[in-house]
Amino acid sequence: MTSTRLTPTQRLRRMHDQLSAAYGPQHWWPAETPFEMILGAYLTQNTAWKAVERSLANLRAAGALTVDGLRSIPLDELQRLIQPSGFPTRKAPALKAFVDLLDAEFGGSLELLAASPTDALRRRLLSLPGVGPETADAILLYALGHPVPVADEYLRRIAERHRLLTPPPGRNRKGYNSLADLTRHAFAFDAAKNQARLFNEFHALTVAVGKAHCGRTARCANCPLAGDLSTGGLTRYD
Ligand code: SF4
Repeated sequence: MTSTRLTPTQRLRRMHDQLSAAYGPQHWWPAETPFEMILGAYLTQNTAWKAVERSLANLRAAGALTVDGLRSIPLDELQRLIQPSGFPTRKAPALKAFVDLLDAEFGGSLELLAASPTDALRRRLLSLPGVGPETADAILLYALGHPVPVADEYLRRIAERHRLLTPPPGRNRKGYNSLADLTRHAFAFDAAKNQARLFNEFHALTVAVGKAHCGRTARCANCPLAGDLSTGGLTRYD
């Protein structure tokens, strides 16, 4: 089989292998506990990770990086602590709503939350304020260990520039779902027990190549994925 006959899912799977060979293991998500991962998933919305780190440091110093800590901290104090990562009047009530859900339906236990079936849990998370598909999937994958792909802006840019989907995925829920489906299919033949690890690694690798090469401007020279552009019938972007 020549490379021109590869399907988009096969090409995406090959991208994982190429990025993994180029960058090695990424060891994501950058957090010490599942609850810290959940807070990070909320705080990183529309914000650079450096700003999230400042908010997490504030929360750690205030003893609010645990379920008990976040439950007991007053809302206005929480807003002040997460100010560095922006949108505190939206993100602080959203974090409180997550803890309310945990208390009301899962006895305050992240383990019980994680034991719920994936589809039902995803729907429940999406019903919370301030939780869109990317936040829900990041929580499911990184904090709760469910095998779901995370389709972020870096992956959307790669899919658009490499013409993996027709029409190109938009920055909306439909575009997100089409990207997530493509990623799910790309890893469908991997053993089920490995899928969470692979989705985790693939997300981290696409962020790495996005930061190094495929940001708002594509810098294709020396990019590990440059060879795939000819597969998709494109010329290089630089
Ligand atoms: S920088 Fe170029 S080769 Fe690399 S992922 Fe983006 S479009 Fe593809």
